[in-house]
Amino acid sequence: MSDTLNPPSAQRDAAGYSATFEAPFRTTPGFAGLGERFFTRLRPTPLPSPYLVSMAPAAAALLGMPAEASAQPEFIEAFVGNSVPAWADPLATVYSGHQFGVWAGQLGDGRAIRLAQAQTDAGPWEIQLKGAGLTPYSRMADGRAVLRSSIREYLCSEAMAALGVPTTRALSIIGSDAPVRRETIETAAVVTRLAPTFIRFGHFEHFAAHEDVAALRQLADFVIDNFMPACRESAQPYQALLREVALRTADMVAHWQAIGFCHGVMNTDNMSILGLTIDYGPFGFLDAFDANHICNHSDTQGRYAYSQQPQIAFWNLHCLAQALLPLWLEPDAGDTARDGAVAQAREALDPFRDRYASEFFRHYRAKLGLRMPAGGDKEDEPLMNSLFQLLHQQRVDYTLFWRKLAHISSADGASDAPVRDLFLDRAAWDTWAEGYRARLRAEQSDDTTRRAAMLAVNPKFVLRNHLAETAIRRAREKDFSEVDRLLAVLSRPFDEQPESEAYAALPPDWASGLEVSCSS
Ligand code: AMP
Ligand code: MG
Repeated sequence: MSDTLNPPSAQRDAAGYSATFEAPFRTTPGFAGLGERFFTRLRPTPLPSPYLVSMAPAAAALLGMPAEASAQPEFIEAFVGNSVPAWADPLATVYSGHQFGVWAGQLGDGRAIRLAQAQTDAGPWEIQLKGAGLTPYSRMADGRAVLRSSIREYLCSEAMAALGVPTTRALSIIGSDAPVRRETIETAAVVTRLAPTFIRFGHFEHFAAHEDVAALRQLADFVIDNFMPACRESAQPYQALLREVALRTADMVAHWQAIGFCHGVMNTDNMSILGLTIDYGPFGFLDAFDANHICNHSDTQGRYAYSQQPQIAFWNLHCLAQALLPLWLEPDAGDTARDGAVAQAREALDPFRDRYASEFFRHYRAKLGLRMPAGGDKEDEPLMNSLFQLLHQQRVDYTLFWRKLAHISSADGASDAPVRDLFLDRAAWDTWAEGYRARLRAEQSDDTTRRAAMLAVNPKFVLRNHLAETAIRRAREKDFSEVDRLLAVLSRPFDEQPESEAYAALPPDWASGLEVSCSS
């Protein structure tokens, strides 16, 4: 490995300590074992004078790393990409995808570099640096990520994990004062992300577009063998794979809806094959409930609005199905065979609807503290629909509503005030609450038990935009304590944490002017 590519480490070596970060895990080739048509080996591009912004202890623990590891200069050098430890095999992968509903052709890891695959007791974790410099897939962009978006991705990954939502994880943010041009000049940062695999729908679309069925099969086998071995038992393992991805995606999106999370850029290259939330860019949590909320300022058509997410997930799954089709359809097959193969793909995707619906009802029943009614999910529809209408009309704060709802009494409205006061039209609340209370009484709900159950699924703390913004503003002044503080609060989202009450409050007035776009 050439030292000219690596000046900071070389200097530090001369100053007397090893620049190698000792890994507490062993590594296995993982994605690297697939071979070179799937990626390009390369080294991260160093950043000048890197400094630790934050390290997430829970993510570190996944790798068997103590929280103190980040105090080592070697940690910073390794996880900013300035030194390449002996255990690393850095590479950038190639994928394609549909962006905003349109085929975009080749994309790939334009600024993400996989360092290694750690093999831990809890399974494999790919370690990836985001913002670590140019790759062959950077296209016209600079290979960097700014501190602002890195803090958002880092905090949200860990917050989602604490909420129980399937997600990629974030180990650390390392900053540098190197300038990065976006709408204004900002500074660079590298987020280290972790996931069992970062394979996206777009990886499959890429090889399908190139009519490279052998590569497609290799990729599908890799996913099945490493992550979904039960598919191998099926008579049609690749359809089983598609079905499994559809189910996992349904689970993920139902959970997003329940916690009021908007992804913002559900392009097929931002869809994980494992059904993990991936690529946190212009995401947002609902403040005032608006079913059609668009969190991404660049999404002028509202393609990725909150209410659209389930349908878009299904649309994306169709792209994946299309890509996988050659695995069970011969290229020279006739019309009948083709129709049959397409029907099989549809069959594999079909369970998405029912799974999404049942997960949706399961989440919202839990949020309402209700048991499954005798008549099944359908019986809950009127109560839930009238609630969504009401929350939407009244623009009620989504997170506060659920949290406060836990405290009402099933007997009467005597303790309604905290939640009732969230509604401008109090009479409308009273009407809905009457129906809800009747339902609670019908199932002989015990208020104390129900309250505890509701508080365990309705978070008090979510990463509202203004909270991230405050941490970002302080971090720009080199005060990283708010990033750590927010990380700690968000890692216990269901706990009362009375000392952190301000983090659960309505957004301040200045927050209404915040805009989040694709710029990152
Ligand atoms: P995204 O919209 O963030 O999912 O990115 C779409 C594609 O653009 C991916 O291939 C990214 O790797 C690439 N990309 C985004 N930002 C940059 C950047 N600053 N430098 C290089 N590639 C980028
Ligand atoms: Mg992306």
